[in-house]
Amino acid sequence: MPRLIDTIIIHHSVTPRDQTLAKSIASFDYNHSVRLHLEKNKLGYHVAYHYVIGGKGDWKQTRADDEIGFHASNLTVNKRSIGICLVGNFDIETPSPSQLWALRDIIKAIKGRHFIKEVSGHRKYAKKTCPGKNMTDKMILEAFKPK
Ligand SMILES: [Zn+2]
Repeated sequence: MPRLIDTIIIHHSVTPRDQTLAKSIASFDYNHSVRLHLEKNKLGYHVAYHYVIGGKGDWKQTRADDEIGFHASNLTVNKRSIGICLVGNFDIETPSPSQLWALRDIIKAIKGRHFIKEVSGHRKYAKKTCPGKNMTDKMILEAFKPK
């Protein structure tokens, strides 16, 4: 059953940016299975996010668009959104330029499939800094609407 998707929520992982993408995804897979009790999804992961972007800008889809994610701390938002996680702790490090390029590319592709009205940091919906103090709303907007 297709669902209405009009929002994209951006996260940071609060794990080291320079850990490999495979290791990062493996750790989320384990954690989300244990902590969130997520079943294996259509793409074979237990990951709560739809996309994960590694420090080098390499990325992987870890949940199909039509599957609800568990990332926004808000069920209403989860139902209508896609969650993208950048690997890193952007309270203490910064997103790499390659990560921001990858984010822009992924958002562009999603915009080709869904009418996206809003791209926001997780912090808009939760008492968190996510995706980190060093990932500004301006950076997020730039990835959504590049000049
Ligand atoms: Zn988050």
